[in-house]
Amino acid sequence: MSYARFGPNSSVYVFRTFDGRTLVCQLCKLELLDQPDFETTNAEGMLSHLAAHVDAGHQVPERAIQRLAHQALVDALFRGAPARLSH
Ligand SMILES: [Zn+2]
Repeated sequence: MSYARFGPNSSVYVFRTFDGRTLVCQLCKLELLDQPDFETTNAEGMLSHLAAHVDAGHQVPERAIQRLAHQALVDALFRGAPARLSH
């Protein structure tokens, strides 16, 4: 599942890995060439990473930020909830 793909309106390619655990900013323009991907296990971490992209003048689709913000909210609601409620 991808949140953003490279294109005229996007300088970032952000997706969730198949196991659902990791969010990746692939070929990240903020990372070093020998380690070109940024990875985090939570939506808040990716949101702050995308904010750094915006600060650097990169294009980040508003839709990607909205979807990650929603995911961060859901994550926060489930944090601390009984294990049977989490997926
Ligand atoms: Zn990045």
